[in-house]
Amino acid sequence: MIHFDIITIFPEVITPYIESSIPKRAQEKGLVSIKVHNLRDWALDKHKSVDDTPYGGGPGMVMKVEPIYNCLKDLRKENSIVMLTSPKGEKLVQSKLKELSQSKDAHYIILCGHYEGFDQRIHEHLVDYEFSIGEYVLSGGELPALVLVDGITRLIPGVLGNEQSLISETFNTDTPDFPQYTKPEEFNGWRVPDVLLGGHHKKIEEWRKEKISS
Ligand code: SAH
Repeated sequence: MIHFDIITIFPEVITPYIESSIPKRAQEKGLVSIKVHNLRDWALDKHKSVDDTPYGGGPGMVMKVEPIYNCLKDLRKENSIVMLTSPKGEKLVQSKLKELSQSKDAHYIILCGHYEGFDQRIHEHLVDYEFSIGEYVLSGGELPALVLVDGITRLIPGVLGNEQSLISETFNTDTPDFPQYTKPEEFNGWRVPDVLLGGHHKKIEEWRKEKISS
């Protein structure tokens, strides 16, 4: 089973997503476990502070090293991979999600940053893998963490109702997925292509191939 531990100062942002839809079903089936932890539980002072002003001056706050160190001391196991969300990290791609989903007994600990990001010592000494979900800056690592968890979870064998849907999908092959339609046959004058209504499998397959290569 793949285990995720997500470390955040906003657990309430993460929880509704992992308790819905496919992540929820995957947990119920016992194929994955997803736990959320509040970093403040590892803060040292009575104000539960996890950030402080930057040495050398400048705007904003920086995530402190000690709470994260202590948190990892408690959660890290031999097989853990500590992952850090960062706009400077390696760009996340489908092939990486696939690789991460194939490990039978993985433990992924995901650190969500905020404010100006992390004390550099966290990057240098405590993390195995830094990932970015794209070339833009968000206010926190919660959405990137959910992107990673969701992207891995749906690839774990047995999670999706119909594994077939993974085979043709965009990024799994060299080509994007083909166009899809559902009922009604006509809406607002926009018709579903006749070939899809005919039930002729060979012709449908040809049409789909043609559509993805055009
Ligand atoms: N000052 C930093 C940005 C910090 S953004 C810089 O310029 O690089 C605050 C936090 O949001 C980051 O620590 C990270 O956890 C998260 N974050 C923001 N954008 C992200 C992205 N594109 N991918 C992954 N994490 C991101």
